[in-house]
Amino acid sequence: MLVGVDWGGTKIEVVALGEAGAELARVRVATPRSDYDGCLALIASLVGQVESTTGRTGTVGVGLPGSLDPRTGLAKGASSTWLNGRPVESDLERVLDRPVRTSNDADCFAVSEAVDGSGAGYRVVLGVIIGTGTGAGIAIDGRAHHGPNNSAAEYGHNQLPRPDVSEIPGPACYCGRHGCVERWVSGPSFARDYHQHASVDLIDPPRLSAKEILEQVRSGNRLAQLVWDRYLDRLARGLSIVVNTLDPDVIVLGGGMSNIPELYTGLPARVAGATFSPCFYTPIVPATHGDSSGVRGAAWLWKD
Ligand SMILES: [Zn+2]
Repeated sequence: MLVGVDWGGTKIEVVALGEAGAELARVRVATPRSDYDGCLALIASLVGQVESTTGRTGTVGVGLPGSLDPRTGLAKGASSTWLNGRPVESDLERVLDRPVRTSNDADCFAVSEAVDGSGAGYRVVLGVIIGTGTGAGIAIDGRAHHGPNNSAAEYGHNQLPRPDVSEIPGPACYCGRHGCVERWVSGPSFARDYHQHASVDLIDPPRLSAKEILEQVRSGNRLAQLVWDRYLDRLARGLSIVVNTLDPDVIVLGGGMSNIPELYTGLPARVAGATFSPCFYTPIVPATHGDSSGVRGAAWLWKD
């Protein structure tokens, strides 16, 4: 049995998978934010819970909202900044009393989709989560690709390529820089961009969600269409960094924004316009496992 833990900033989810991927048990609770020891104890308790439910013990893989320094083992770059500097893997091994494999949550997403999701059958899978933030991971032959810095696919913290004057310096990011791709392409960033432009013509315009803005796009609202076109252009410019470097075999999108069908019709031509290569044949597809991909991929960290 393979147990996966998704240690997120807002929720902790634990799933138990059979060797062929069948889900045997699942539990999800709110994250005790800023309480590191409380999170460790809770994870140990939840893993015990799924093992009790199934009557089996399992390997444990954990997806983190950050990554570990490969030399010191200390967490770095976590959006839940209270995790940074903590020896997460060794602490998890202590409370779970077994070896634990950890990976960035977006790496887990890529692994999940590569093993038995939309990236199955492709050798190099780029997984991109576009939700409240943006994260990306690379799976090669179904395994998470970790470089010597555990920093692969962190293109969300590159500056948006070819910014125009209005995009400099760009919004501040939790990483300490300005204008990161993540700060332009997340769902809240899209909603913020729409609101800023609506504010030019209207006093105190309503704050629409990404979903509501797309309804405006579909009903022919000119402002919404312009903001959506610019969003697609920014998403494509961001992806061009990875395509120009790695040229993955498939790009799988997850997170709330990935549920917008117009992404898949509008994005490929714009990526082709943003990359060095004028041709762009790479499939861009939605995730198969949706919100479950992160926790399933964590379990698959122990796949042979
Ligand atoms: Zn950043």
